Amino acid sequence: MTLQSWWAVFACAAVVAVVTGALAWRRRSRTPAATALTVTMAGIAIWSAADAVVYRFDAEPVLRAYPSVLMAGVGLVVAGAYVLARTVSDPSWRLARRTAVLLAAEPLVLVVAASLPATHSLVMARPESGATSEVVFGPLFLAHTGWSYLLLGAAYLHLFRRWRVAAGVFRSQVSVLLGTALLSTVGNVLTLAAQDDGHRLDVTPLFFLVTGLVDCWALFRLGLLRLVPVAREQVVDTVPDAVLVVDPDGRVIDLNPAAVRMLERMRPGVADDIVGGVLHEVAGPHAVTVFGRVAAEEDGHRVAEVAPGVWLDVRDSAVSDPRGRALGRIVVVRDVSEQQARQRAVELLNEKLAEQVAVIERLRAGLAEEVVRDPLTGLHNRRHLDRTLSAALTAASERAPVAVVMVDVDHFKSVNDRFGHAVGDRVLQAVAGVLTGAARPGDTVARLGGEEFVVVLPGAGQREAALRAEEIRRRCAALVAESGSGPCSVTVSAGVAEGPADGADPAALLAAADRAVYAAKAAGRDCVVVAAGRPELATEPAAELATPVG
Ligand code: GH3
Ligand code: MG
Ligand code: MG
Repeated sequence: MTLQSWWAVFACAAVVAVVTGALAWRRRSRTPAATALTVTMAGIAIWSAADAVVYRFDAEPVLRAYPSVLMAGVGLVVAGAYVLARTVSDPSWRLARRTAVLLAAEPLVLVVAASLPATHSLVMARPESGATSEVVFGPLFLAHTGWSYLLLGAAYLHLFRRWRVAAGVFRSQVSVLLGTALLSTVGNVLTLAAQDDGHRLDVTPLFFLVTGLVDCWALFRLGLLRLVPVAREQVVDTVPDAVLVVDPDGRVIDLNPAAVRMLERMRPGVADDIVGGVLHEVAGPHAVTVFGRVAAEEDGHRVAEVAPGVWLDVRDSAVSDPRGRALGRIVVVRDVSEQQARQRAVELLNEKLAEQVAVIERLRAGLAEEVVRDPLTGLHNRRHLDRTLSAALTAASERAPVAVVMVDVDHFKSVNDRFGHAVGDRVLQAVAGVLTGAARPGDTVARLGGEEFVVVLPGAGQREAALRAEEIRRRCAALVAESGSGPCSVTVSAGVAEGPADGADPAALLAAADRAVYAAKAAGRDCVVVAAGRPELATEPAAELATPVG
C-alpha cells in the first residue's frame, strides 16, 4: 500500500469523527462530557482530514499548511480527551477558566509557531535534501509531545480510578473510553516510532477511525452521555435534609449546606466553627436533647423541640470500617416543625371536638332526661314509668315479683280551693320529696298526673310494699306546708299491687293498684289497701295513724 492510498482511510476517520462529534454535541445540555467529546472528535476530524489531504495532494501549499493544521487538531484532541476524562470520572468536575486557558495556550503557541516561517522548523520541518515523505521534528514539537502525554497520563489515571469504583453500565462506559483512548495513544506512539525511522506516514487517524466507531456505538448502546451518573457529594449537597458526619467523639467531620443552614438558624454566626466542634456544643444548649446522644453506639431516631416551635427529626446511623471499628456516625436531621405544628393543630381541633361532643352528649342526656321528667316535681313521668314497669315485669316472676304503690292525695282539690294553686303545687312537691326519700336504690318514683304518684319496687312483694306504703302514708301525713293563710297538711291514700300476680303488664298492674286506691278512698282515705284478694295485708284506715302537724 503506497503512502498516497492511505488518504481514503483517513478521510473515513474524519467523517466518522464528525458524525460522532455531532451526535455528542446533541447531548451537550445533559453533561459537559458531551462538549468535551465533541471537541475531541473535532480534533480527530481535523487531524485525520489534514493527513488525508496531505497524502492525497502532495502539493507544496498543502505541505506548508499541514504542520499548523495538524497541531490545531492535536491540541484539540489532547485538551478534549483530558476534559472528557475528568468530567466522566467526576461528574461534579467543571472546567475552571484557568485550566481552560492553560489547555488552550500550549496548542496555540504550537499552531502559531508552525505557521510562521521563522519558527516553523521549531515544530516540524522537511529536510531540504530529503524526500517529501521525510519529516524532522523540532524541539517545540517534542516538548509538546511530552506535555500531551503528561496530560493524557493524568486523564487515564482519573479514568482508571473511576473505572475501579464504577458499577454496571457506568463501568462499561468508562471501559470504552479508557479502551479507545489507549488505542489511539498506541496508534500515535507507533506513528512517532515509525516517523523516527524516517517515514512520514502518520497512522494515528487509522486508530481514530476505530475510536470514533466504538464511541459512536457506546453513545447508542451504552447510553454514553445519556446515562450520566450524579456525584454522591452532589446528591448529599442537594438533599434538603441536614446531613452531618460525626466522629466517635461526637465531633463534626463533615456536613452539607443544609446542615450549615440548620445550625446557623439554631445559633447565628456559628457557620465557621462547625467542623471540628462537638455537635451538641455547636448546636447550642437547646439541642442537647437531640444531639447529646450522638456518641452512643446504637443507631437512633428521635424527634424533639429544640427551640420554641422548632422541631427536629434526628436519625443516627453508625458508620464502621470493614473490620467493624467505629468510624463515627451519620446524623440526618429534618426540620419537622411544620408537620408538628399541623399535628398539634389537629390535636387541638380533636380536643375541641371531643369537648363539643361531650357538651352535646350532656345536652342530649339532659334533653332525654327532661323528656322523662315531670317539670313540677322532678320525678319521672308516665312515659318513663311505663317503660321501667314494662322492663321490671319482664324480669319479674312469682318468686321475684315487682310491686307498685300508687299514692293519691286526699281531697287535694280542697287544698287548691283553700290555699290556692301555688300552695297546692308546693304540697305536690313536698309529697314528691317524701316519695323520693322513701325510695331505695333500684326503685322508680313517678308522677302519674295531677296528685297521683306511683312507686315501683322491683323485687318487693305485696307485704313489703304495703309496709313501705304505710311508711310513705305516715310521712306524708306529717307534712306541713306553709301558706299565707296558715299551715296546710294533707293525707294520702295508697293502693298496693304485685306483679305479675295482680297484673302481668303495666296497664293491668296499675289498674289493680288504682282499684286498691279507690278502695282506700272508700275505706275513709289516709290508709293503705292492697290489691283485691289480699285484704289481710291492708292497714287500718285509722285517722290516728295520721299525725298532721300544726
Ligand atoms: P280525692 O280525695 O277523692 O282524691 O279528692 P281530690 O280532690 O283529691 O280529687 P280530684 O280528682 O277531685 O281533684 C284533683 C285535683 O287536683 C283537681 C286539680 O285541680 C288538682 N290538680 C291537678 N294537677 C294539679 C297541679 O299540678 N297543681 C295543683 N295545684 N293542682 C292540681
Ligand atoms: Mg286523684
Ligand atoms: Mg286526690
